[in-house]
Amino acid sequence: MTELSGRKAVITGGGTGIGLACAARLAAMGIETILMGRQLERLEAAAATLPDARAIRCDVTDDDSVTAAFSAAGPVDILVNNAGIAAAKAFHRTSMPEWQNIQAVNVDGLVRCTLAVIGSMRTADYARIINIASIAGLRGGAYVAPYSASKHAVVGLTKSLSLEYAKTRLTVNAVCPGYVETQIVEDSVANIMAKTGRTREEAIAELAKTNPQGRLIQPDEVAETVAWLCSPLSGSVSGQAIMISGGAI
Ligand code: NAP
Repeated sequence: MTELSGRKAVITGGGTGIGLACAARLAAMGIETILMGRQLERLEAAAATLPDARAIRCDVTDDDSVTAAFSAAGPVDILVNNAGIAAAKAFHRTSMPEWQNIQAVNVDGLVRCTLAVIGSMRTADYARIINIASIAGLRGGAYVAPYSASKHAVVGLTKSLSLEYAKTRLTVNAVCPGYVETQIVEDSVANIMAKTGRTREEAIAELAKTNPQGRLIQPDEVAETVAWLCSPLSGSVSGQAIMISGGAI
C-alpha cells in the first residue's frame, strides 16, 4: 500500500516510450493505470506487463474517440498528457497539413483529453494533470518549428490552467525533457542519417551533444519526475515547466 493506492491515472500514448515508463512507475506506486493510444494490441501487451492496468483505444485527435475512451475509463485522479508526435523539416518546406497534423495531436489532442477530465478534477480532493512538453517548449529550434510551437502552447496552457484552478486541489505541471531514448528519437536519428549521410553513432552523438551530460535521457528519468508530481506532498508545485535535460538551461 502507498498513499496513492486506489487512485486512477490515464496515460495517453501509454503503450510506448515515456508514456509506458510513466505507467510502470505509477503502477509501482499502487495506482490503477489506464493506457490510451491508437494501437490497441500494443497497448494491451503493455498493460499486461503492469499490475492493475487496462488498455483503452483512444485517438486524441478525434472527439468521439476521446469521449468514448474517458467514459470507459470512469473518474480519473491523474492525467498524464503524453501522446505526441514530432517531425523535423525546414520551415519553408512545411505544408499547412503537416503543421496542422502536429498541432492536432500535441495541442488539440491534449486539450481534448484535459477537457474530458477537468469537470470532475476541479471539485476533487486530489487531482493532477501532467503534460509531457519538451525542452522545445521553452526555446526555439531550427527545423522543428511546428513541434516547438506546439510544445510552447502546452507550456502556456499549463501555466494558465494552474492559475485558473489554483484554489482547487488540482495541480497542473509540464515536464520538459531533452532528447529521450524512444521511437521519436530513433526516427530523428534515421532522418539525420538519410539527410546528412552520417552514421548512426554520429547522428546519436549530434543529438546527445545538446545535453551537457552528453547523453540521451532515459524514459524512466522522466517518469520519476512525473511520479514526484503525483505525490500529495508536491501539492504546492503547480504551473511549472520542469526541465529534464542533463543540465541544459
Ligand atoms: P513515442 O514512443 O513515439 O510515443 C508517442 C506516443 O503517442 C505513442 O505511444 C503513440 O501511440 C501516441 N500517439 C501518437 N499519436 C496519437 C494519437 N493521435 N492519439 C493517441 N495517441 C497517440 O515517443 P516518446 O518519446 O515516448 O513521446 C512521448 C511524448 O514525449 C511526446 O509528447 C513527445 O513529444 C514527448 N517528448 C519526447 C522527447 C524525446 O526525445 N523522445 C523529448 C521531449 C518530449 P499510438 O501509436 O498507439 O497512438
